[in-house]
Amino acid sequence: MRKQIVAGNWKMNNDLSQTESLIEALKAKEKTSNAEVMVAPTFTNLYQANQALKESNIEVIAQNMHFAENGAYTGEISASMLKSIGVETVILGHSERRAYFNETDEQLAKKVDAALANNMRVIFCFGEELADRKSGNHEAVVESQIKNALFHLKAEAFKNVVLAYEPVWAIGTGETASPEQAQDMHAFIRKTLADTYGNEVADEVTILYGGSVKPNNAQEIFSKADVDGGLIGGASLNADDFFAIVNAI
Ligand code: PGA
Repeated sequence: MRKQIVAGNWKMNNDLSQTESLIEALKAKEKTSNAEVMVAPTFTNLYQANQALKESNIEVIAQNMHFAENGAYTGEISASMLKSIGVETVILGHSERRAYFNETDEQLAKKVDAALANNMRVIFCFGEELADRKSGNHEAVVESQIKNALFHLKAEAFKNVVLAYEPVWAIGTGETASPEQAQDMHAFIRKTLADTYGNEVADEVTILYGGSVKPNNAQEIFSKADVDGGLIGGASLNADDFFAIVNAI
């Protein structure tokens, strides 16, 4: 049985004291689902957050990293730096990184390699834009995003890769993919994996849905066979909402 995960992406929100307050609120919540729970604070709050959540069942993860081990990359953070403060999982390829920071499939392939070489787990994000969906190109776009960044990997590497399908038109817009649209795409992604790596690998890969998941729609989306959890933006900034989503699995 593959893992179910609910991860909160806090994006560029919350200074140190706000981060501490949110963590206190999260620690007071009861988890009634089997999902693994993760939160991704900003880099400046990662160390503190990880210390504060050490004894909890919430994993602290990073929102991004650079592919180089170290060197002249002003403003960047490496995998080994994340590992040195106890961070074991990193989100890569978020659509905001692709759109605002021009991250390409080629760079993302290098980031994935660097994370895996450092024994980190990757949550790899991808998803089509509205125009792709409207023109019926969404499957082709998603297929090329996954293949370009991940299909050089050996089958066993997928043990440390979680996929997150996030249609760009659903992120932060209040518009979600319908549960059927999510299921159709997740099934397509799993088939794409199976075609290259076989059913055994494809069946074990956790595929998250992201894009305006809220307490009132989480249960229906998570009930779909190939949806193994969610990557949550806006609703993860509120402990009640986030745990309502965690417990909807
Ligand atoms: P949202 O963000 O839940 O605010 O739509 C999702 C994401 O960016 O991962």
